[in-house]
Amino acid sequence: MTETAAPNLTIDQVVTRVAAASVVWAATAYAERSRVMRAIADALDAAGPDLIAIAQDETSLPQPRLQGELKRTTFQLRIFADEAERGAFVDARIDRPDATWPMGAPRPDLRRMLIPIGPVLNFAASNFPFAFSVPGGDTAAALAAGNAVLVKAHSGHPRLSDTMAAVIEEAVVQAGAPADLLRVIHGTQNGVEALEHPAIKAASFTGSISGGRALFDIANARPEPIPFYGELGSVNPAFVAPAAAANRATEIAEGYLASITGSQGQLCTKPGVLFVPAESGVMNALRSAAAPGPAPLLNDRISQGFVASLDALAGNNAVSVLREGKASRSVEPEATLLLTTVDDVLAEPESLIAEVFGPVGLIVTYTDTADLELVARALDGQLTATIVADEVDTDLELARTLVPALADRAGRVLWNQWPTGVSVTYAQQHGGPYPATTASTMTAVGTASIARFLRPVAFQNFPAALLPEALRDDNPLVLPQSIDGQPVSNAGS
Ligand code: NAP
Repeated sequence: MTETAAPNLTIDQVVTRVAAASVVWAATAYAERSRVMRAIADALDAAGPDLIAIAQDETSLPQPRLQGELKRTTFQLRIFADEAERGAFVDARIDRPDATWPMGAPRPDLRRMLIPIGPVLNFAASNFPFAFSVPGGDTAAALAAGNAVLVKAHSGHPRLSDTMAAVIEEAVVQAGAPADLLRVIHGTQNGVEALEHPAIKAASFTGSISGGRALFDIANARPEPIPFYGELGSVNPAFVAPAAAANRATEIAEGYLASITGSQGQLCTKPGVLFVPAESGVMNALRSAAAPGPAPLLNDRISQGFVASLDALAGNNAVSVLREGKASRSVEPEATLLLTTVDDVLAEPESLIAEVFGPVGLIVTYTDTADLELVARALDGQLTATIVADEVDTDLELARTLVPALADRAGRVLWNQWPTGVSVTYAQQHGGPYPATTASTMTAVGTASIARFLRPVAFQNFPAALLPEALRDDNPLVLPQSIDGQPVSNAGS
């Protein structure tokens, strides 16, 4: 039997309906898109207590964390609604005809803008039942861009997904938008079938490297390949410089333990590997710093994956245990810190720099700071990389060599802050080279993520009456336009 939110429909029928809604939504005025998105945010806020109760039941995440996540999710919908209303993301560029264009041939009248890419399939994440799920960042970005959305619910929170879909449908219909603007489907194979459907024009994903890679390959093997924006795996290395280690051992150890145990370590930005000077006080501070007690992981699949990846890392001959709670491998694990050296990491980076999705960190000791740049250059693509350093000559000198290497490998480089707790802003970058993501030029968080769901089109030699409003000389939408290569804001006013 086909599992969908509307049980009588096949995947083909659901996708076809979403595709029809997408045509209507793409033609909907920016201000109207914004109004509907705000109505969705308001409805989710109003349903908050019920949604949080279901989420707690399905994911075992604590209530305060879920309350914060729902707040972030509706904030996210509203900040994207603001972007939809401003419409600046269409990046309107107007080149007027120029008979003397120095290229050697006359320049025609060319007008380029970004248009909605078409129906988007969003594979929801296990670890963010709100913010990377049915109404999450991918959905908000796709809606703001002008696309309808089909969400493949995560099997870890099916009831929450359906309940949110119902809340959203009611809000959407009351706001006068198509009921099929957002639909939810369930089932692994149904997700694949939807991804292969010719009406789907882009897909987004947050999850494992193996799952994301399998779906990326399916998206690319379609007769018409489509963009697949996968956010996969990252160990998010952090480097403690010598002076900081000498001056702030306790603060660094406490901050690190708090970061790797937040949400039980089930965060894509968890700093899974920490490089520390071998003789520093940070080692002792890490042994003794307070850490939260045992707590459950998201679901059985995550638990099994956690124990398997922890066993694989801890079983490596180059790895020993720095600290471990009684319940380090139970269904409610406690923080574990493993220990190795930078020489061992340089000898076998693939097996030692590996993601363990749970409250575990690998501490890597070093004696020669020159080794850190070698490690940084050898890293796979990362979502984040962190430098913990003091503003003294020795640490700054180290940072000057590390920063370019880390910027080459990671989407976000941090200075003296831990990478967990990703803020939703205009300048946020949540991405990175593979395997952090399958699209290193994009971000999955922040308003710049709208770009994933847009496609450029240029109109050549068009009469004004047939041009999209964004590209007209009288600029009725009062959008920022670039005219003959020069930015002109509010050109029509
Ligand atoms: P996952 O197994 O990759 O699943 C994510 C989504 O993709 C689910 O909807 C899943 O469907 C679907 N899927 C996975 N493999 C597929 C395949 N071969 N064909 C079709 N659909 C497929 O991720 P997860 O369940 O969230 O967690 C598993 C592991 O992923 C974790 O232990 C962790 O290592 C990693 N993870 C990483 C992040 C991150 O932010 N980078 C986030 C969460 C998890 P079903 O639900 O129907 O199986």
